[in-house]
Amino acid sequence: MDKITVAEARKAEAVGRHVRLQGWVRTRRDSKGGFSFIELNDGSCQGNVQIVAPGELANYEAVVKHLHTGASVVIDGEVKTSPAKGQATEILASHVELIGNADAEKYPLQKKGHTYEFLRTLAHLRPRTNTFGAIARLRHQVSMSIHQFFHEHGFYYIHTPIITASDCEGAGALFRVTTLDPDAPPKVAGKADFTKDFFGKQAYLTVSGQLQVESFACSLGKVYTFGPTFRAENSNTPRHLAEFWMVEPEMAFCDLNDNMDLAEAFLKRIIADALKYCAEDMKFFQERIDPDLLKRLDGVLNKPFKRVSYTEGIGLLLKAPQTWEFPVAWGSDLQSEHERYLAEEYFKCPVILYDYPRTLKPFYMKVNDDGKTVRAMDVLVPGVGEIIGGSQREERLDVLEQRMREQRLEPEAYSWYLDLRKYGTVPHSGFGLGLERCVLFLSGMANIRDVIPFPRTPGNAEY
Ligand code: ATP
Ligand code: MN
Repeated sequence: MDKITVAEARKAEAVGRHVRLQGWVRTRRDSKGGFSFIELNDGSCQGNVQIVAPGELANYEAVVKHLHTGASVVIDGEVKTSPAKGQATEILASHVELIGNADAEKYPLQKKGHTYEFLRTLAHLRPRTNTFGAIARLRHQVSMSIHQFFHEHGFYYIHTPIITASDCEGAGALFRVTTLDPDAPPKVAGKADFTKDFFGKQAYLTVSGQLQVESFACSLGKVYTFGPTFRAENSNTPRHLAEFWMVEPEMAFCDLNDNMDLAEAFLKRIIADALKYCAEDMKFFQERIDPDLLKRLDGVLNKPFKRVSYTEGIGLLLKAPQTWEFPVAWGSDLQSEHERYLAEEYFKCPVILYDYPRTLKPFYMKVNDDGKTVRAMDVLVPGVGEIIGGSQREERLDVLEQRMREQRLEPEAYSWYLDLRKYGTVPHSGFGLGLERCVLFLSGMANIRDVIPFPRTPGNAEY
């Protein structure tokens, strides 16, 4: 007898096979005819398979009639064509074995719908629900599409470090990594002496693998890194996590336009794959989470992204027929409300905003000839706002050093990075896509805490 998954059992080709299924009971219903229906799910797909458990089963009265939502079972039986509508097949059980019971009074995921807030307190059980099962499968698919897209386009996957001594953004939002005793650190001149720390200097969790991956772009040509990323900013928003996953491609001999082309082709590929390989889950998101989802994704797939300079974008926001919570002015950063207005209301499609004021962006972005802006680009999508941030990198040593001083960074601390400009420098570009922002966009979910298995946010690191 073959073990098969619920996904396999639901296909018409399975009819006639004697199979074994293993999973969790979603519901049980006893028929007046002296048999029971069990809705079984094993996580392999969104839908359940219906098990018909006949009254003749030896343990029918003692076990089958007491199966509760959440119990784990092994079912042997024959796959039959189902007379019920909405399902191709069902299983006529010849053997039902209870593996682990779930107390009907205590099991927290009873049939009725729970709020996402409540389910966040059950992060270990929520993957058993329809929504969180669908998100987990979608997240997997997006991760696979990322690797496949880059592999097929000749990019090498580079593993950049998680622990780093360089602060890529030149900003403060870093988690410190230390083995010093917090109550009694060794001191010099009244301050903690990090020369006595594990690495002999201050170390942090990475906020981006970009600087390191640039060194591989400047030797292997096309590369990407994909891993966990940490930001200690205290932003309690539905779009920020303290720990998230970021994919960062980097290409040598490549300018900002090539970078935009890559970002657009990449996002379109991820959407196309999700629609193709997660069709059942995408239909679920459309029906249960966001009724505009499929239309919106279709629009994104089939239209070119709009490319607009930051300066033009500010002009449009100043003319917008609405008031803003955060004021709009050339030189100030765009807030989510501004990003979403441009993508959702004005252009109604993804927008690539480029050439931002130099004061808003990190030191490594290439300074434009106007001296005021840098070759940065952000991809803004309807429903989410910024999903990708990228730039052409500054390849001129003197300009780069000057930018570092401007942002109060010590060029000496980045000597290895500056070497890339000293020896065989090339124009190069890349971007970062937040995996969770991408899953938000694809699923229509509203809160980023619901698209990562175990979210870490200010005040929360449970599980
Ligand atoms: P934001 O302005 O939205 O805070 P950022 O400009 O700081 O983002 P980048 O440094 O450009 O972000 O990072 C690249 C991408 O990583 C972003 O476009 C976004 O998709 C994702 N990202 C950044 N910060 C977070 C976060 N705290 N949680 C989840 N994803 C993030
Ligand atoms: Mn950004």
